[in-house]
Amino acid sequence: MAETMQFKTELKQLLNLIIHSLYSHKDIFLRELISNASDAIDRVRFQGLTDASVLEDNSDWKIKLIPNAAEGTLTISDNGVGMSRETIVEHLGTIARSGTREFLDSLRAADAKDRPELIGQFGVGFYASFMVADRVKVVSRMAETSPLPASGEGPGLRGTTGVKWVSEGQGDFTIEPCTKPTRGTDVILHLRDDCKDFLNQNRLHQLVKKYSDFVEHPIVMDIENDGTTVEDVLNARKAIWLRNKNEISEEEYTEFYKHLAHDMNPPARTIHYKAEGQIEFKALLYVPAKKPFDMMWGESKKGLHLYIQRVFILDDCETLLPPYLRFVRGVVDSPTLPLNVSREILQQSAPLEKIKSNLTSKVLNTLEEMKRNDFEKYVDFYRELGVFLREGAYQDFENKKKLAELLLFESTKTDAGKLTSFADYAERMPGDQTDVYYLAGESREVLEQSPLLESFKAKGWEVLFLTDPADEFVVDSLHEYKGKHLKAIDKAGVETGAVSDEVKARFQPLCDYFKEKLADIADARLTNRLKESAVCLVADEHALSASMERLMQRMQRDRPMPVAKRILEVNPDHPLVQALEKMLADDKNDPRLEKRARLLYDQAVILEGSKVKDPLAFAQRLNELLLGSATV
Ligand code: ADP
Ligand code: MG
Repeated sequence: MAETMQFKTELKQLLNLIIHSLYSHKDIFLRELISNASDAIDRVRFQGLTDASVLEDNSDWKIKLIPNAAEGTLTISDNGVGMSRETIVEHLGTIARSGTREFLDSLRAADAKDRPELIGQFGVGFYASFMVADRVKVVSRMAETSPLPASGEGPGLRGTTGVKWVSEGQGDFTIEPCTKPTRGTDVILHLRDDCKDFLNQNRLHQLVKKYSDFVEHPIVMDIENDGTTVEDVLNARKAIWLRNKNEISEEEYTEFYKHLAHDMNPPARTIHYKAEGQIEFKALLYVPAKKPFDMMWGESKKGLHLYIQRVFILDDCETLLPPYLRFVRGVVDSPTLPLNVSREILQQSAPLEKIKSNLTSKVLNTLEEMKRNDFEKYVDFYRELGVFLREGAYQDFENKKKLAELLLFESTKTDAGKLTSFADYAERMPGDQTDVYYLAGESREVLEQSPLLESFKAKGWEVLFLTDPADEFVVDSLHEYKGKHLKAIDKAGVETGAVSDEVKARFQPLCDYFKEKLADIADARLTNRLKESAVCLVADEHALSASMERLMQRMQRDRPMPVAKRILEVNPDHPLVQALEKMLADDKNDPRLEKRARLLYDQAVILEGSKVKDPLAFAQRLNELLLGSATV
């Protein structure tokens, strides 16, 4: 006799909300039921390890989908652990989770559009069935651990009495004994009229591929093939990330990468590991060698695939890695996370944060290892994807040091087109050098012309060339490398030596003269950083550099920003400077003085890669000089 029982009130209300809120997500019922079936198999398989009798010679593990068009039913059948009358009532008649009440309250209070997230966070599980079915029948027989039945019934022949649970999800369910010849559970869904597409074999196949492809146990379906019926396995069952590293070939890793990343090229690095401790997970990550195809135009797919116990959850879990590592592809599988975590919860869950920092370190360490052991390959990678590392060095405060190690630049000591790192730079530093020097600009060719390099070259002090527009922001934000200051050589205060007091005294009037006559400079100072050049312009120590200023101006064309006045540095060893000093000492009203001062200044403007303010006046002064006019 069937007995009618009431759902617990909470469940009744919850079912209603689930059905109405999750309607557009109804696909997920299949993944939930398959995941339950898979869990049930795992459980009986585990019991079988200590008590083989529970297996009843029925350990050909299988999850079978049986669409029945005539009946309008879809059955999900497993030979897992099954349920007794008690467990069915307990598990399918109540929600035995703590906090259900509070959850319901928050659900009711929430905006309709936020409900799916909340429900996902809570976990719908079995009740997802009611999103597609107006009646759900569960027929189950539990694995028996009792002694074998009386003689005559032979081993493997157990009682055939199972239990049948039926509900329309409206508030009550019936439960009665029934005949169930084999161990396990059949969930029979009477599909709603508008959900009959779940009878379609192709659709089912697609859903299995999408959500459950890597379920360990075979998910099968009978397929008509030339008049004969064959049982087809729908899932690939290759949870490659769960397998042992040493059992997986390079080809298998590469194939999986290609499948995952839609990339034709093999990855630059494969990272496969297992984390244990507070939070458990397995990760299989790939560092692409080439910029992923979908990152070329806009960024469609980002993030890793998240699995929870082989059950697919999300294919673009952005929160597993910091944004700048969005080029990394892969899978993370954690048994510690609640199944059905919602996107919302993924934004702020503490375990995810832990996974994220673990994955981030792993990726950065791998890149560092690649840089150390496989520099050529790393350089290729850097040329393709270095832009993301620069972004990281700027954004990721926590991993600043690691990211600094990963940056590459050309320098005065590399051949054109060759790159070097801070570490190599530091290695080459002569004993008398304490800081790390750099100069930013458009290209190596332009930078190599800079008069600012002269004294550095003479001293054998290397200068890094920052030619990517982002380089300067990044290096600026790093401030230091292993305690050595990172200094732009086009800023005041960067000296390779000191000017003697005697020289200072002699040239001070000339500096004062420059400052008085040249309105565009903030100051004129003596320097010994120049060798061949007479003068150069530098930015104030705390001001933007020339290249940064040009960059900013390009970025906000319509809103011109005030240009900070530069400092004119004067080389007292230069014959031109010495001649002017003499001219000034002889007759401070000599008409040639001011014109020459202007020419020198314009020259310095050109040398720093900027434009002279008044090209016509510049050309005229130059022509006069070329013609040998007595007044220039
Ligand atoms: P969860 O899987 O998160 O526990 P579900 O709502 O999906 O939540 O399932 C509730 C419970 O019902 C399960 O924990 C399990 O005990 C039982 N159950 C559901 N489906 C099956 C099945 N196919 N075989 C055995 N037990 C099942
Ligand atoms: Mg479940």
